[in-house]
Amino acid sequence: MIIAIDGPAASGKSTVAKSVARRLGARHLDTGAMYRAVAWLALERDVPLDDWSALTGLAEANPVTFEYADGAAIATSVRIGGRDVTTQIRLPVVDANVSAAASVPGVRTSLVAQQRELAGVSDTVVEGRDIGTVVFPLADVKVFLTASAEERARRRQLDLAAQGHAVEQAEVQARLERRDHIDSTREASPLEAADDAELLDTTGLSIDEVVDAIVSRVEAAR
Ligand code: C5P
Repeated sequence: MIIAIDGPAASGKSTVAKSVARRLGARHLDTGAMYRAVAWLALERDVPLDDWSALTGLAEANPVTFEYADGAAIATSVRIGGRDVTTQIRLPVVDANVSAAASVPGVRTSLVAQQRELAGVSDTVVEGRDIGTVVFPLADVKVFLTASAEERARRRQLDLAAQGHAVEQAEVQARLERRDHIDSTREASPLEAADDAELLDTTGLSIDEVVDAIVSRVEAAR
């Protein structure tokens, strides 16, 4: 069974998708982490983000892998080309550059093929931007999460503060909106809700309320 959870940056996808996976005894697959890993490797190797052919080659030659402890829903680490990048892919410099790497069609083709393989093994909750539209158009359940830009900036600011990065909320919101703009207007699989996705506005909802709503949908689809 595939549960697709899409939505813009900081819409609550990760927290919700992980919790849904735990509740269902399914696996969680974070496709954003895969684009982040490719962007990190490009920065590390000084590959210019406008060199589409080099970026495509990088993605093809360096598969992204996740490690899951026995039977665990959530991966404990992410690797690209064998390098553990679990912490590095959350750095602000990766936030600022990941959308450029993710707009490269060849990078997307390579990562989408990897995502289909990774999720093909067991029931999986897959989170991203194009899961319901492109990666798994036949997913059993499709949800598109939204939240106001202010609410998303507030959540992301809290995440950043927890990692020791103090940034003004207005600056966080400007960065999120810049990333959403690139994600929504790129040619290759832009961020958009699938026609048959359930839209869930999480502004003002608790995580448990959102998770309950998705789990009920999954139960109904079984
Ligand atoms: O989900 P997260 O915010 O970690 O994703 C980081 C970036 O990766 C997004 O801003 C987007 O550019 C890209 N992405 C994507 N398609 C996906 C998942 C993420 O383009 N399925």
